[in-house]
Amino acid sequence: MIIQPKTRGFICTTAHPDGCASQVQRQINYVKEQPAIQGPRNVLVVGASTGYGLASRIVAAFGASANTVGVYFDKEAEGSRTASAGWYNSAAFEAAAQDSESKSYSIVGDAFSDEIKAKTIDLIRAELGSVDLIVYSVASPRRVHPKTGEVFSSVIKPLGGTYRNKTVNFHSGEVTEAVIEPATEDEVRQTIAVMGGEDWQLWIDALSEAGVLADGATTVAYSYIGPEITHAVYREGTIGKAKNDLEATALRLNEQLGANGGRAFVSVNKALVTQSSSAIPVVPLYISALYKVMKEKGLHEGCIEQMYRLFSERLYGEGATPVDNKGLIRVDDWEMREDVQAEVEKLWTDLATENVYELSDLEGYRREFFQLFGFETDGIDYEADANPDVAIPNLR
Ligand code: NAD
Repeated sequence: MIIQPKTRGFICTTAHPDGCASQVQRQINYVKEQPAIQGPRNVLVVGASTGYGLASRIVAAFGASANTVGVYFDKEAEGSRTASAGWYNSAAFEAAAQDSESKSYSIVGDAFSDEIKAKTIDLIRAELGSVDLIVYSVASPRRVHPKTGEVFSSVIKPLGGTYRNKTVNFHSGEVTEAVIEPATEDEVRQTIAVMGGEDWQLWIDALSEAGVLADGATTVAYSYIGPEITHAVYREGTIGKAKNDLEATALRLNEQLGANGGRAFVSVNKALVTQSSSAIPVVPLYISALYKVMKEKGLHEGCIEQMYRLFSERLYGEGATPVDNKGLIRVDDWEMREDVQAEVEKLWTDLATENVYELSDLEGYRREFFQLFGFETDGIDYEADANPDVAIPNLR
């Protein structure tokens, strides 16, 4: 069938298999061109099909020649509906990994459930024996608690007072004011339950109790801090509370794993276009301004460049992993550079519908958004017939 993008708000409901495959191959090629990493041998990535999780898996497999298990929640094609982008990305990843020296396996299902944890553990035991790196990169709007069955929804809201700031409709270029009312206490509780550290802790406990966590294992989860502009709605809002919980979990896990020579970290990554970040008000406009400044300064990175730097220079670089005074790995260092932020702030003051394409890289943002779903990718003929039914090799 001919597959074209169909958008609903910040979601694209179709994905292109060949475009997604091409995007994954581009990331693999980037990693193969970099010096090899002396890193982990057997890696579990939870949330492995898009964004930072996918890039982590690619760096592990093609940068460190590690065996990988990817867990993710994606849908295959059905009738006239295409599969999700993560499905096509993973199919392409698995196909490329089959041709490499590293083994790889995929598990599709709800990572929050006991069932998927048990299935993953059985697979690790049978195929790899144990894992020595666990990347936790789940971003989800909801979670069903595995013990109580309670359904939690995460929200992106400020705390205490109403938040107002500029936002953009990245399809039309219209800059308007976002007005977001503060969260209730229950919304904070639910957001922490979805995006905080509880599930990460449950994964590590389950792997450890099952005896499939290698001695000296490392685990890492991802966080964001960002600039003053987004603090009220992000870092000091509901999601920030969840990230505080994630960071506190890292400190606990570091002690727990430390008993066997292991380590736990939170890495603070750069703001990038992903399916999750496009859902946050204000952030797409901030990212557009940031891209403009960082591209002009030659500092721009995507998920794959960020994750290569995380693995090669931080997690598996020479000597101890460098962290800030809160114990966090900072690969958002270039984003947060004073000169970068000063220029973004200057642009922010002037940004309006009339000048948004000139003062920011909104066009780059929009294009990357469509590329997340395999569209607007060079070398793909979007008028040609494409087969939406793509199988994932090694799906368990
Ligand atoms: P993403 O939406 O691209 O990826 C989320 C992944 O989680 C996908 O593989 C998806 O399949 C998986 N997932 C969602 N629900 C699941 C479930 N129930 N079971 C199994 N898998 C599930 O998101 P992302 O932007 O790469 O975010 C990953 C992490 O990085 C998050 O913690 C996010 O806060 C953090 N982060 C993102 C940014 C950014 O700008 N995008 C910046 C810094 C940190």
